[in-house]
Amino acid sequence: MLRPCQFVRCFHRSLHVVSVTGSSPQVQQPLNFLQGKRCDPTDSANKFDLKYPATDEVLRQVPSSGQKDVDEAVGQAKESFRSWSKLSGFERGNVLKRTANIIREQLEKFAQAEVLDTGKPIWEARFDIAGCADTIDYYGGLAARISGEFLPLSNGSFSYTVREPLGVVGGIGAWNYPLQMASWKSSPALACGNTFVFKPSPLTPLTAVMLGEAYKEAGLPDGCYSVIQGETETGQLITSHPDVAKVSFTGSVPTGSKIMATCAKDIKHVTLELGGKSPCIIFEDADLHNAVSGAMLANFLTQGQVCSNGTRVFVHKSIMGPFLAQLVERTKRMKIGNPFHDDITVGATISKEQFDKVMQYIEIAKKEGASVVCGGERVHPDPSLGGYFVSPCILVNCEDHMTVVKDEIFGSVMSILTFDTEDEVISRANNTEFGLAAGIFTNNLQRAYRVASALEAGSLYINNYNVYPVGVPFGGYKKSGLGRENGPDTLDYYTQVKSVYVEMGPVEAPF
Ligand code: NAD
Repeated sequence: MLRPCQFVRCFHRSLHVVSVTGSSPQVQQPLNFLQGKRCDPTDSANKFDLKYPATDEVLRQVPSSGQKDVDEAVGQAKESFRSWSKLSGFERGNVLKRTANIIREQLEKFAQAEVLDTGKPIWEARFDIAGCADTIDYYGGLAARISGEFLPLSNGSFSYTVREPLGVVGGIGAWNYPLQMASWKSSPALACGNTFVFKPSPLTPLTAVMLGEAYKEAGLPDGCYSVIQGETETGQLITSHPDVAKVSFTGSVPTGSKIMATCAKDIKHVTLELGGKSPCIIFEDADLHNAVSGAMLANFLTQGQVCSNGTRVFVHKSIMGPFLAQLVERTKRMKIGNPFHDDITVGATISKEQFDKVMQYIEIAKKEGASVVCGGERVHPDPSLGGYFVSPCILVNCEDHMTVVKDEIFGSVMSILTFDTEDEVISRANNTEFGLAAGIFTNNLQRAYRVASALEAGSLYINNYNVYPVGVPFGGYKKSGLGRENGPDTLDYYTQVKSVYVEMGPVEAPF
């Protein structure tokens, strides 16, 4: 997905000056979305701060939603399900396809709001939003193809199967790709005939509501897509609601585990997109420039806050010198600063909490014997930017047992490890509780295939990294999750199969 020059070229627009002092309409308006309209919660016990990560300025306080708000959203979704689920897939697909086009027309508005939420560079936000439109379009196209099978049986009898929607789906999102989570979950859910209630991360509430407005403009009936803002408690109200048939969650492993436990009580369907600590393996025969590009894509997009990042970079001992020299030289050239400027490649860390966590991990790494060869420091790019900017960090002398090599950090911290043999690197790469992604850089086709088969991960990249074309399933092995998003298989996770047996002869009974 991500080559800065290419995407800046594709999505470059003249820079719009965005005031971050709360004058953006997306920031000022109510942020719940019910019955096709923005509204404030009616049952709010507390508020949380919406901050712009690049300035750390509070843009506004957002009221959390309570039981009454969740009941209302789920109730509307249940009511709307009756008619939405009865439409043909073609009709539902048309609404999704129109929504995709509306997002494309408003791409700049969406991208600016995504930057206010996340602090990521505007070119990345533009690229992410374009990808969301493509995903919605894709499921719009697939909606008419959702069907069952005809199974001929003996004596003219037959069975047929029908893929039926589940009912109300509750979505819970993390903060690194806010619109992507809302659209990767809502569009397959809606395509299958479900209705959808989404709770974004409290750090990034803006664009899920804009998606609701786009769905509405495209003709989605009121109540089919709702947004409920809030923190943990609001999420719990959604996941434990008796009328929610399925939960689709993206976030950390500990939260995913709690949500799975909640869903287990009522035997609810669940999709979990969780964390990772993925390997990126550079063999001695790799194209050096591509391998360095891949390692950077595997670590430094969105300030390193990417679930699939290949943060354990295994480099064959024989090429460590030239690899590291080129990597450090190119990393030092990355431009840190105002995310709204087109030439910036490093924006702001999402929050002070996350910044503190990243810096603590770098300190622990040093204490455990790793060395920083570049970055890992707070940067103040401009007096007007009081947010938490960190220079992309490269650690060497890393070993498998170190905390920084085992834990998901969720920041721009790349750990470089060396290896001698293919068998050794496969075994070390798989020695983790996670299994989200893995990268392999080699020009040896047989080796690439062999190693891809041996690695325990849901998304493998050969000679590239962090590429998510629409239609390619994405999801984790082991503790990185359950279920798949972004591909045709996703439709299985938003439907249930009904088998109907039809007897064409007399009933043969032994009594
Ligand atoms: P998090 O688990 O802290 O929170 C995620 C969401 O869950 C938030 O909306 C939060 O309010 C809500 N929540 C928290 N406790 C809850 C509960 N008990 N019940 C219901 N909802 C609850 O994660 P985060 O810090 O927002 O995101 C970072 C994590 O997300 C990282 O581990 C990252 O790897 C993961 N992630 C995974 C993917 C993927 O596709 N696999 C994508 C992006 C992020």
